[in-house]
Amino acid sequence: MPNQAHLNSTGRIDTMSVRPRAFLSMWCPERGIVMGQCKNCGNKGFFLSISGLGLCDSCHPPIAVDINQRMGIINESMNLIQSSNVLKTQTHRLELLKKNLDALYKYEKKGITRGITKLLSMYDMLREETILKSVKAIMDAAIAKATAAPSAKLSVTAASKALEAITSGLQELPDNEVLLDYMHDINKYIDDAKLKSILDAANLAEFKDKTNRAIDLYKEALFFLNGIEEKDQWQLEQIAEIETRIKELSQ
Ligand SMILES: [Zn+2]
Repeated sequence: MPNQAHLNSTGRIDTMSVRPRAFLSMWCPERGIVMGQCKNCGNKGFFLSISGLGLCDSCHPPIAVDINQRMGIINESMNLIQSSNVLKTQTHRLELLKKNLDALYKYEKKGITRGITKLLSMYDMLREETILKSVKAIMDAAIAKATAAPSAKLSVTAASKALEAITSGLQELPDNEVLLDYMHDINKYIDDAKLKSILDAANLAEFKDKTNRAIDLYKEALFFLNGIEEKDQWQLEQIAEIETRIKELSQ
């Protein structure tokens, strides 16, 4: 009978010997003496010691450790998601964040933790924003490199890095409209660079008086342009110019 320890010689409760948190758990200013109840196992009793998390002595230690460890992982993941610019690291950390938030949610339902529900509700938005931001950064860097490239061929290689990043992004966020727009833009950029690369080679062949080679390359450029489904104004103009050039060189 552990309660005996708290009774003084007159048989009344010796408040001095009752541990403060146990005493608080049974005293409520509005309702007088109430029973303490563990939020996890549901155990209740007048002398049940209840921790700050609302847990009994048996439930508190393992749950407090679990919450601490998971909160540590959550904080570390949030920092890495924000500071890293490696998409793979970010997606891995996003998964870890979700896994730990889901695990803590079981405590939230019992009223042991607070704030997890809010974090979970913001998770999808955080995930989308992080992935889009990361892909955009890779894309901007790739386009800057492609624009500064000394040849159209190197420009294609540089721009292809952006295409890889967008493809990875779409694996994480299928059908995401922002990524699909990026994909459209970068494909257009690469198509133009590829065409310029063929035209550069054709010009060089003309300069070297290699007429047949030049005609061959212009035809290759036409074939390439024909393969593009939605041609823009610049591409349509190129077709007209190339056809004229082939006629002139063939005379
Ligand atoms: Zn308990």
